[in-house]
Amino acid sequence: MPQTLTSNPQEILKNFFGYSGFRGNQEAIIQSVSKGQDTIVLMPTGGGKSVCYQIPAVLFGGLTLVISPLISLMKDQVDALNTNGIPAAFLNSSQSISEQRYITSQIQEGKIKLLYIAPERLFKGEYPLIEFLKTVDLKLVAVDEAHCVSQWGHDFRPEYLKIGALRKEFSNTPFIALTATADKLTRKDIAEKLGLNSPKWFISSFDRSNITYRVTAKRDSMDKLLEFLDFHKKDSGIIYCLSRKNVEQTAATLEAEGLSVLPYHAGLSREIREKNQELFIKDEVKIMVATIAFGMGIDKSNVRFVVHMNMPQNIEGYYQETGRAGRDGLPSDALLFFSVGDAITLGRMLEQSENQGFSDVMQGKLDKMKAFCQSKTCRRKYLLNYFGEEAADNCGNCDTCFQKGNLQDMTIPSQMLLSTIARLSEAFGLGYVVLVLRGSKSAKIQEAHQALSVYGIGKDRPESFWKDLGEKLQQEGYLAEAGSQFPTLKLTTLAWEKLKSKEKFLLPMEEERTTASATSA
Ligand code: ADP
Ligand code: ZN
Repeated sequence: MPQTLTSNPQEILKNFFGYSGFRGNQEAIIQSVSKGQDTIVLMPTGGGKSVCYQIPAVLFGGLTLVISPLISLMKDQVDALNTNGIPAAFLNSSQSISEQRYITSQIQEGKIKLLYIAPERLFKGEYPLIEFLKTVDLKLVAVDEAHCVSQWGHDFRPEYLKIGALRKEFSNTPFIALTATADKLTRKDIAEKLGLNSPKWFISSFDRSNITYRVTAKRDSMDKLLEFLDFHKKDSGIIYCLSRKNVEQTAATLEAEGLSVLPYHAGLSREIREKNQELFIKDEVKIMVATIAFGMGIDKSNVRFVVHMNMPQNIEGYYQETGRAGRDGLPSDALLFFSVGDAITLGRMLEQSENQGFSDVMQGKLDKMKAFCQSKTCRRKYLLNYFGEEAADNCGNCDTCFQKGNLQDMTIPSQMLLSTIARLSEAFGLGYVVLVLRGSKSAKIQEAHQALSVYGIGKDRPESFWKDLGEKLQQEGYLAEAGSQFPTLKLTTLAWEKLKSKEKFLLPMEEERTTASATSA
């Protein structure tokens, strides 16, 4: 059903949003929606999805319904719209009955252009919203974070499936579904589960060229973090931790260092969370230490860095979280601390899931995340390939790209480390191997291994050097992990061949500083 245009999109962009021109696909998307076409938008975080339905809402008259997963975000979006002179409201359970009545009456009088709701609101209660919607002039439905409808996505929300029923009721109203992350299975699911009618797809490039990606060993992560933050003095950033406890500890440590930080996790009261978030957004506090509960939908353009103290569960999450950096297009840093132990912990968490199919999918995603961390190819190339995009050449703006041409001859120490592992019958983890290599005076180790020719041959170098080397050898495919209960290291065929042929071990060793910025690198 074609819509009547009351003005033109360009003017609305300028008059209501204050922007001089459209970005990327925005204009084409708005045109598609304006023709009454079901539309699916895949655009990275910060790409500018919101105006793709907000401008049509202004153009169309009548009501645009926006379905969004998080009640907590609606208020900010609605406030921003009202500030821009676009009448908008949200309905949720935190409002009193009379407040809700007031809003519905405003809608009936045609005084509100955008209504934000969470999907559960559609069919719940005595007078479900879907009945009310039938009484108003519903012109457009926007489904934000549309990947939530898919079981294959990383953030499945069963209540999103109900949107399909809404679609059936409003078969002549155009729907626009938007997401920042969707692999191939998820994409297919979005169209199917929402019941969209031969939707037109708009897939933007996922490249965020201003973000420098780095992955570094988790060992001494607090020291490395402090060095990194020292480099980012006065910058605003987010530090993600896996658990609430880690959030509290990290925030406390940083605070003790005199940094401007606040914690954010689901264990804090709503008031505190809101307050901390606001202080961060207003730049009154520079650093937010948070679980992944923080950040969805937050519109803060000058976030200069995002740190992951632990490996995220999947590339989608990593991409979305790092995508919160550099929305203003200026150089920004994404730093991830990787340890094999974290990957194992996350794998165990998945094993506890009752839904086998789901945990298999998530395990596959976890494996890809781990492979990303251990990969020696360009990080950006890996990410873009993951999202089905052909990446041109190496990006020159990630740690692996920086390290190319930075290979060092590590032949002798590699031979030492590898033969120690071999002499120990490949039965131990890296920490133990290093103790033997450095000739530990522990009675247990002396007794068991003093007779070995390799005992103590590495005592001239610090423990950290050997651990770093071990991790590098693993990342480069010379060592593999074995053992189920305790990770032990074994030599790969590649390592045996290299040792036999007496070839050199050229390895990309850590740079002096792990945290040089994009601009200075
Ligand atoms: P997304 O939902 O895709 O993460 P948003 O819609 O929140 O992104 O937009 C990200 C930022 O870009 C916001 O600050 C928004 O105001 C800004 N923005 C959107 N479109 C434009 C444009 N055409 N020109 C300039 N800035 C824009
Ligand atoms: Zn690169």
